[in-house]
Amino acid sequence: MLYNVIDRAIQVHGALGVTEDTPLERMYRHARFARIYDGADEVHIQNTGGRILRRYANGEGFDIGMR
Ligand SMILES: Cc1cc2nc3c(=O)[nH]c(=O)nc-3n(C[C@H](O)[C@H](O)[C@H](O)COP(=O)(O)OP(=O)(O)OC[C@H]3O[C@@H](n4cnc5c(N)ncnc54)[C@H](O)[C@@H]3O)c2cc1C
Repeated sequence: MLYNVIDRAIQVHGALGVTEDTPLERMYRHARFARIYDGADEVHIQNTGGRILRRYANGEGFDIGMR
């Protein structure tokens, strides 16, 4: 969502959106960083998938957002 909003804002601004005259290029870069630092997307997906599967293997359901 964040990525899409910034991408759209850059598109609306045209070439200006990718210059340092607006904060958009910095926002775009930082939004991209967030998919790498603190673990790459793929690592988060693996960890989350593993946690969900372990709960089912232990006979528990997955109750995200239910607590
Ligand atoms: C802006 C920024 C700030 C950072 N700040 C800090 C900081 O303050 N302290 C700190 O210690 N580190 C920091 N880092 C480093 C960051 O934690 C690592 O970049 C991050 O953990 C990913 O490690 P890596 O770069 O070695 O990529 P790698 O682990 O080599 O991953 C590269 C790519 O390989 C693939 N990949 C990796 N593992 C898997 C997997 N298990 N399954 C499938 N595909 C996989 C993914 O496509 C991944 O994007 C920062 C990085 C950035 C970009």
